[in-house]
Amino acid sequence: MKNDCLEMDGFPVKITEAVCLGASLALSSICFYLYKKSRKTLDKLDDAPRFTIDGKLKHLLKVTPGACLQYAVIEGVVQPVGEPMASHFQKEIVGVLQRFMLREHRLVWNGLSRTWTDSERVLHQQVNAVPFVLVGSDENTVKVLYPLQATGVHMEITHEKFHQVNYGLGDIVGQYLSGEKLKGQLETEEMLKVGTTLTGIGELILDTDGTLNLRPPSDGSQYFLSIADFDTLRGEQESMAVWWKALAIASALAGAAILLWVGRQYYCRLKVRWEQEQERREFERLLAEAPRARITAADPEAPQDEVEEHVENACVICLSRPRNCILLDCGHVCCCHRCYQALPQRQCPICRQNILRVVPLYHV
Ligand SMILES: [Zn+2]
Ligand SMILES: [Zn+2]
Repeated sequence: MKNDCLEMDGFPVKITEAVCLGASLALSSICFYLYKKSRKTLDKLDDAPRFTIDGKLKHLLKVTPGACLQYAVIEGVVQPVGEPMASHFQKEIVGVLQRFMLREHRLVWNGLSRTWTDSERVLHQQVNAVPFVLVGSDENTVKVLYPLQATGVHMEITHEKFHQVNYGLGDIVGQYLSGEKLKGQLETEEMLKVGTTLTGIGELILDTDGTLNLRPPSDGSQYFLSIADFDTLRGEQESMAVWWKALAIASALAGAAILLWVGRQYYCRLKVRWEQEQERREFERLLAEAPRARITAADPEAPQDEVEEHVENACVICLSRPRNCILLDCGHVCCCHRCYQALPQRQCPICRQNILRVVPLYHV
């Protein structure tokens, strides 16, 4: 225990601790911020009124000041305003939003964990959109504006194909040397299909020409478009909030653990110093009690001219102060008390035997 604390006295440990402490505090505050944010979104979702798209909604907006509802939930069936887009891969599928992605999958050698880990890179991405509306029960519609700014799952995968790479022996050797293996390319197409029931959460506004529009909220609240229903979407937000909260607590606990660890080490160091101080006082007391050693006791640490004349009596470590301790049990008289206290381990510098006790040497 005592040795652990002494070895931890080094400067590098302190830097590591500071970095760990800083990192856990930063992580904790980021997670807490994200938790607060998702909690706020959740509260907003709970407060948002839910409407069916019909004539009453239009009438409600007409009598609302500003013809605008800041945050509302609506549900309707996707219909294009003009011509819909056809899937590149299955011609019978038509939609209003389309995202084509080409991703490269690689295995990268991780030297730390000594395993191959998957890594993915987007090589190409293309997003297309045509104007669309949500149709309610009685042919009333709400036009969806800026759908690409919305979060939430609102597209389905309409095409997915993995292009595997085939290798020769030379390639395999090259991969092991470079630490990177190309697995292949994943080609995906996602679409928001015509006829899908879509939940939209955002700002509802009645335009001067009489059309109802759904658009990103002007107060910075989150804009949602989802093929899942409202309750599923709310559930996802809730679990996200719980997850951020758990992460924030975990990283705060990690920070507290580091603080405790630093405190314990500091305490250990203080304790060692205090014990050394006690021992030095005891040694000086013993020295002072011996009547013939008073001259030495007056200033035991300072180099003395008398000693320098008799080099054979000087401490083997500092070569300047007189040897004034007897190390027990081996009984070697080889060093001064200050050098004895500075020993990295409690072992005799001559015979490596453990030092159980040290007593002053009286010159007769
Ligand atoms: Zn010495
Ligand atoms: Zn010894």
